[in-house]
Amino acid sequence: MKNLINSKLLLIAVAAFSSSLFIACDDDDNTNNVVNSTIVTQEESNGLLFMLEEEKLARDTYQYLFSIWNHNTFGNIKNSEQNHMNSIAGLLDLYNIEYTILPEGQFENQELQNFYDQFVEDGQQSLIEALKIGATIEDLDIVDLEDYMNQTTNNNILTAYESLQCGSRNHLRAYVTNIISNAGTYTPQFLSLDDFIEIISESHENCN
Ligand code: MN
Ligand code: MN
Repeated sequence: MKNLINSKLLLIAVAAFSSSLFIACDDDDNTNNVVNSTIVTQEESNGLLFMLEEEKLARDTYQYLFSIWNHNTFGNIKNSEQNHMNSIAGLLDLYNIEYTILPEGQFENQELQNFYDQFVEDGQQSLIEALKIGATIEDLDIVDLEDYMNQTTNNNILTAYESLQCGSRNHLRAYVTNIISNAGTYTPQFLSLDDFIEIISESHENCN
């Protein structure tokens, strides 16, 4: 009799274990997260949230400048910035980090909001000023991505940041080329002069 009770208890225990196992496996995202080892640090999470808004700063500013100057460079690059936002949003989704994307021209980060407001004001002055704003954004973006890349060993995040940075180098080349062809000059504000010269001396890269 005692054995029978024990067997029944064992069966119940096995059934309970199996159903909890089934529930655990039912959620594909959770399983993938475990495989990809997906605990992100607070620093990595903050970095992704900041970069999402910095890519939005690029997209929204180029959208605005395109509406004023109707210059193709802004039109083409703003689409690329949307892809960059999608890439960061994909990682935030993967790691179950909550985020909001505010309407065009609005930012949660006050520093980025101040940049946008200044860019809108300065960007109305002339096409050259508008192109310099483009170069400024890419200059800043490359340096910020570098900083966040130095704070992580997560391959998913590193791969995404490297791809965004590659895009930013191409964007910087495009803006500087246009500034020069409009008889203007650009002095780097965030990159070192050496890094800036190295980037603009190289030709267009294929970014993944
Ligand atoms: Mn970008
Ligand atoms: Mn860019």
